[in-house]
Amino acid sequence: MSYSDERLLGTPITLSNCDREPIHIPGAIQPYGFLLCLDEHTHHIVQASANTETYLGQPAESLIGRTLDRVLAPEQQAKVEGLFDTLGTAPQLLGVQLDGVAGQPYFKLIMHRYDEVLWLEFEPVEQLEGTTPDLSFLNAAMGQMLAAATVLEFCQHTVDQVRALTGFDRVAIYRFAADESGEVIAEAKRADLDPWLGIHYPATDIPQQARAMYLKNWLRFIPDAGYAPVPLVPVRNPASGRPPDMTYAVLRSVSPIHLEYLRNMGSGATMTISLIQEGKLWGMVTCHHLTPRLVSYELRDLCQFIGKTFSALLGSKELLDNTEYQLRISERQNELFEHVTVSGPANFVDGLCGHFPTIKDVFDCGGAAVCFNEEITTLGATPSRDQIRELLAWLQENAPQDVFSTSSYAALNPAGLAFRATASGIIAASLADAPGNYLLWFRPEQVRTVTWAGQNEKPQKLADGQIFLSPRQSFEAWKQLVENTAAPWKPVELEAVKDIRLRISDIRLKVFNELQAQARSLTRLNTELARSNDDLDSFAYVASHDLKEPLRGIHNYALFLLEDYADKLDEEGVHRLQTLVRLSQRMESLIESLLQLSRVGRAELELEKIDLNDLLEEVRDLLQLRFEETHTQLIVRHKLPTIMGDRIRIQEVFSNLFTNAMKYNDRPEKLIRVGEAPTDTFPELNRANFYVFYVQDNGIGIDARHQTNIFKLFKRLHTPEKYGGGTGAGLAIAKKMVEKHGGSLWVDSQPGQGATFYFTIPK
Ligand code: ADP
Repeated sequence: MSYSDERLLGTPITLSNCDREPIHIPGAIQPYGFLLCLDEHTHHIVQASANTETYLGQPAESLIGRTLDRVLAPEQQAKVEGLFDTLGTAPQLLGVQLDGVAGQPYFKLIMHRYDEVLWLEFEPVEQLEGTTPDLSFLNAAMGQMLAAATVLEFCQHTVDQVRALTGFDRVAIYRFAADESGEVIAEAKRADLDPWLGIHYPATDIPQQARAMYLKNWLRFIPDAGYAPVPLVPVRNPASGRPPDMTYAVLRSVSPIHLEYLRNMGSGATMTISLIQEGKLWGMVTCHHLTPRLVSYELRDLCQFIGKTFSALLGSKELLDNTEYQLRISERQNELFEHVTVSGPANFVDGLCGHFPTIKDVFDCGGAAVCFNEEITTLGATPSRDQIRELLAWLQENAPQDVFSTSSYAALNPAGLAFRATASGIIAASLADAPGNYLLWFRPEQVRTVTWAGQNEKPQKLADGQIFLSPRQSFEAWKQLVENTAAPWKPVELEAVKDIRLRISDIRLKVFNELQAQARSLTRLNTELARSNDDLDSFAYVASHDLKEPLRGIHNYALFLLEDYADKLDEEGVHRLQTLVRLSQRMESLIESLLQLSRVGRAELELEKIDLNDLLEEVRDLLQLRFEETHTQLIVRHKLPTIMGDRIRIQEVFSNLFTNAMKYNDRPEKLIRVGEAPTDTFPELNRANFYVFYVQDNGIGIDARHQTNIFKLFKRLHTPEKYGGGTGAGLAIAKKMVEKHGGSLWVDSQPGQGATFYFTIPK
C-alpha cells in the first residue's frame, strides 16, 4: 500500500482525490451477500461484514474471534476448512447449508486466499437469478466466436452471447485506443434503448488503479447500483492495521464516484469483464441493466470464461483483420499500378487518379491529392487547392523525410485548423526525382456528433483533470481531447505509401533514364554528323582547291594547242581540242561551286543586325544590269524587318534566288516578288520564333517530283544551254547558308505557274 493510499483511508472520496482512491481496500462490501475474513493460520474470524445480522441473525461483533462453528454444522465446517490449504487467489465455489440460520438455509460460498486472509463470501441462493446454460449453448457460442472473420464480428458475437446468458438490458464492448481512451465498438441491447455505438470516453474515465485491478480480477459485478456499502467490522485488519486487499473479492464495494456515474447514466446494475491481450487491458465487456439485477455466480463465472476465451482468440482475429486489410491494400496497389503502366509513365497522374482504384482507394482515408509539376489533382474530401499549396510549402520547409505523417496537422501548424474537418490526418510522400512534387492522403477529424437521449442533462463545462460523472460528460471531454485529431495512420498504411512512392519513383526514373539514353544517342549522332560534315567540307575544299591548279594547266595547254597547232591538225583534232577546253572550263566551274559550298560549311557566320530593306536595295544594285537585260521587275511587297544574320550570306541567298527566278522564266515580262509571309501562314511553324520570307516568280515552275532534288548538289533539271543554268550548286549553297542560320529553305510550285521559294530565319 502506498503512502497516498494510507492517507486517503477514512477520507471522503471527492472528484479531486478519486484518482488516488485506494479502491482495492475500501473496507466495505456490497450488501447482496456477507463476508467473513479468517486468519489464514488460526482460521479464526478476524473481520466480518456488518450485515451478518441480516443473513445470520448474528451481529458481526459476535463473530469476531470465533471459528466457523458459529455458522456451519461440524460436518460442513470440516469440509470447508479442509479446502483452506489449497486456496489461492483463484476462487473456489461451494454450496453450503447454514444450519441453524432460520429462513436462509442455503448459500453459495466463494472462497479465496489473499493478503494473508482467507476470504469467505456468502451469496444467498434463492435470490440468484438465471439458470446455468447447458453445454450445447456453450458449444454453439464457442463455435460462433471461432468462426468470426473480423474483430468486429467477433465482438458482436460476444456481446450477443453475454446478453443471452445474463439478460442484461445492454451489453457493450469498449475498446481502448493507444492513448487509453475508450470507444464502444459492439453492442447488444434492448430495442428501445438508445445506441451507444461510436461513443468515446477519455482515458481518465477509468483511473489507473482500476485498470491495474481489472488486469487481476476479470469480472466485477454490482447487482444494485443504489446500494449502501456495508463496512467491515472492524474496518482494519488487526494484523496489518488496514483494511484487507479486496482485489479478488466478489463483494468488494466500489468507489462512490463510480456509483454516482452509474446512477447518472441510469444504470441499476452492472457487470464488467476484462478483455486482456498480452498482459494489457485491450477492452471491456460492460453490462448494464436499468433496474437492479442479480446474476448467479455460475453465470458470472461463465461470462468470465467467455471473456478469457475472447482474450485468447483476440490475437488471431486481429491478425485476420490486419491480413485482410493488408491483402486489400496490396491488391488495390497492384491494380493501381496496372493503370499507371497502361497510362504510360508520362501520364502517370492520370494512372493514379483516373480509374478505380485510385490512390485514394488503396487504404481508408477521406481524400487524396497528386501534386505534380505545379498541377494539383484532388480526389475525395481535401483542403482547397490554395490550402494544399500552402501545405506543400510547409512540407518542403519542415518535413524533409520521404514519407511524412501526422494525425494532427493543426498541432504542428496552426494553419491546419482551417481544414481540420477534412484533413487533420495527413500522409505526404515526396516524389524522389522531383522536389516539390507530392502524393498526399487526408483523414478527417475523428470527432463526430452523437445524439444523446434524455434532454434533462446539460453538458457541463469541464475542467482539466476532472472526473466525469456521466457518459455524455465523458464524451464531451473526449471530444475536447481529440479536437483537431484524426484516427491514427496504421503501420500497414504507411508501408503502402512507402511502396507506392518507390514504385512511382521507379517508373519515373525509367522514363528519365530512357530520355537520357535517347538524348545521349542523339548527341552522339549529332557529333558524328557534324564530324562527317566537317570532313566532307574539308575534303571538298582540299580537293577542289588542289584540283583547280592542274585543271587550269590542262585548260591553258588546250588553249595553247588550239592557238599554236590548229593548222597542223585536221578538223577532227581541232574539234576534240575545243571539247577539251569546254569540258575543262565546265569542270572548273563545278570545282568553283564545290569550293563555295565547302566554304559555307567551314566558315563561321558573322552575325549582325541587317535591315533587309537596305540589303535588298544592295542586291538590286548588283543585279540591276541583268534585271534590265531580262526585263525583270523586282517588287518588294512591303517594309521588311531587321534581322540578325550574316550580311554576305543573306545577300547570296537572295541573289541566288533572284538569278534563278530570272533564268527559269520564259515570259517576256518577268516578275519577282519578295516579302515576309503573313503571320497566319505556316501555323506549324512557331511564328513567334521565326521570320518567313518568300521569293516568288512567274516563271516555268517546278514539277512536284523534283522539288526536293533541286536542293541537292549539282542537281539540275535543265541543260545549261536551255535556260543558261549554272552547275546545279546554287540552291544547295543557298540552302546550306539558310540552315547555317538555323532556318530552312523550301519551294512551293506548280509547273507553268511560277515558283515561290520560302526560307526562315530565327528571330
Ligand atoms: P543552277 O545553277 O542550275 O541554277 P540551282 O541549284 O540554282 O542550279 O537550281 C537547280 C535546278 O532547279 C535548276 O537547274 C532548275 O532546273 C531548277 N530551278 C531553280 N530555280 C528555279 C525557278 N525559280 N523556277 C524553276 N526552276 C528552278
